[in-house]
Amino acid sequence: MVFETWSGEETRKIGEKIGREANGGGVYTLLGDLGVGKTTFTQGVAVGLGIKEPVNSPTFTILQVYEEGRIPFYHFDVYRIEEEEEMEEIGYDEYFYGDGICFIEWANQIPNILPKKHTQIRIEKEIEKGYDYRKITITKQGDGKNENSCIG
Ligand code: ADP
Ligand code: MG
Repeated sequence: MVFETWSGEETRKIGEKIGREANGGGVYTLLGDLGVGKTTFTQGVAVGLGIKEPVNSPTFTILQVYEEGRIPFYHFDVYRIEEEEEMEEIGYDEYFYGDGICFIEWANQIPNILPKKHTQIRIEKEIEKGYDYRKITITKQGDGKNENSCIG
């Protein structure tokens, strides 16, 4: 699935739709450069789940937990992680394989512990289309079709 947006608000709306439709138990990876809109997308997801608390980039914490929505929401930002062992320390598997949904910014940093089955959300700029243009590509991974592109 490919979406094109021309503002942060439009990107938030796509996230919101995903949040509204999500079932528990899913892992979603968010890939793309700094400032591309990963957190913006995540804010929409939170709204779609019925979370009122504002969602920001958890810059100094790897994980932010939101329990007030329809299903538990786990927002990871693993940008600063140096070893996947740091994920062990926070007990990541309880979240990855639990009943809530996980959104992981910079998931390419933790390739070895990502569940094979997850949904990849890649956000890209195309500068010739304008400063606020984003292409958002959502693909299911690990269903047997994209074996070699798990995090690529
Ligand atoms: P990241 O988490 O990927 O580092 P953020 O979501 O924190 O990025 O920041 C993205 C910035 O880009 C925000 O200030 C947002 O308003 C702006 N922006 C402009 N156009 C878009 C767009 N089409 N989609 C998402 N964000 C956009
Ligand atoms: Mg961010």
